[in-house]
Amino acid sequence: MNVIWARAIASLLVIALVALGLGALIKPIVAMAFVVVALGVQIVFNTFHTQRLWQLLDAPVYGEVPSAPGIWGEIYYRLHKLAKRWHSQVRQVEQQHQRFIQAIQASPYGVVMLDDHNQIEWSNGIAESHFGLDAKRDLRQHITHLVRQPEFVRYLNTQRYDEDLHMRGMGENRQNVIAVQAFPYGDNRKLILTQDITELERTDSMRRDFVANVSHELKTPLTVLSGFLETMRELPLSEGDRARYLDIMAQQAARMQVIVNDLLVLAKLEGDAKPPVEHMIDMPNMLRHLHDDALGLSGDKHTIDMQADPGLTVVGAENELMSALGNLVSNAVRYTPEGGKITIKWRDVGDGAMFSVTDTGIGIPPEHIPRLTERFYRVDRSRSRDTGGTGLGLAIVKHVLQRHDAILQVKSEEGRGSEFSVRFPAARTVRNQAIAAKAV
Ligand code: ADP
Repeated sequence: MNVIWARAIASLLVIALVALGLGALIKPIVAMAFVVVALGVQIVFNTFHTQRLWQLLDAPVYGEVPSAPGIWGEIYYRLHKLAKRWHSQVRQVEQQHQRFIQAIQASPYGVVMLDDHNQIEWSNGIAESHFGLDAKRDLRQHITHLVRQPEFVRYLNTQRYDEDLHMRGMGENRQNVIAVQAFPYGDNRKLILTQDITELERTDSMRRDFVANVSHELKTPLTVLSGFLETMRELPLSEGDRARYLDIMAQQAARMQVIVNDLLVLAKLEGDAKPPVEHMIDMPNMLRHLHDDALGLSGDKHTIDMQADPGLTVVGAENELMSALGNLVSNAVRYTPEGGKITIKWRDVGDGAMFSVTDTGIGIPPEHIPRLTERFYRVDRSRSRDTGGTGLGLAIVKHVLQRHDAILQVKSEEGRGSEFSVRFPAARTVRNQAIAAKAV
């Protein structure tokens, strides 16, 4: 028996003993009166606290413990402890639920939960933007009333969810491709996951285009080669024809070699880490080489000027930059008709340095400019081939420049000429004095 109960029984015993005493010493009627008063007080006390307990159970106030003597005090205290424990458990569950919601909101996938009638029970922000939904407004709405694309409705109704569905998004994602997959769970409920795969689709189609382009570029010289081989094998040829055919075949083989080499260069640039920033390139010296090469390529058919800031250098990979900048210079010569002028410059532009090649050549129509650095992109296919181009030069330039944190800018006017400039950030350019200081 615990102390509280012992006390309650003891108080009843005290009443009984006092009543007996009063009966024996005074009169039994006095004892009776005493018992009636004592029990009456107890009944009033208990009724008051029963009522108080009732109110408390009706509208519990956390943190407040009503005070009362004896067994009622104990009841209030225990009830308070129970309510506190229950309250903290509810808080814990609420916090877990909140964290769970936050985690799904942070997911890169869109999530929609559907009930057994395909009505929306919950969706995260990404799913809202993919499907153009409003989580609050569209709650309990049938999803196919909101996402009405026939392919989506069909997908949801077929109940075959092994594969995902690719469809156009809605609202602000109208232009994007969204992958949607449903996962059934529980009593005919569904979890719908969505992902924006626009970029993936784009790279996939770029990859397909690239393979098609490579095959096409190699097929042309290969067809010429095999045609001449066939002719040489089957027809009796004069020495002159034979030598001429062999020349053409050698040219086509060389062309294939150039394409394959450029492709290998591109693959290497994509796979390699960025060049270290320790090596300083003597840019004025590189410009002298580029100038000499341009003169050689032009064969005195153009005026070619060169101006270089003598103290300005760049940190990076010399062979890569030589090939990229050389490409810009050779393009200027190749796409400038006889008598034209080409200017190569290397100068300080305040917050970095600028390499530029300006020509008075054929120029480029504005709609082609944004696509020039795509692989195999040419403004005029036949002209590029005639001048020995592969259509990979500017793609290589773009990669090399990206690896040097530099950007390519193209200004051009059809029929008047072009300017290809490369801007190096200040972090990649160093003044000669700095090199001298380092050398000491
Ligand atoms: P290509 O090997 O065909 O020259 P590039 O990638 O170097 O390939 O250049 C892509 C295309 O950009 C060229 O086919 C040409 O049409 C155009 N282009 C590049 N440089 C010039 C220039 N200086 N003037 C005019 N067109 C140019």
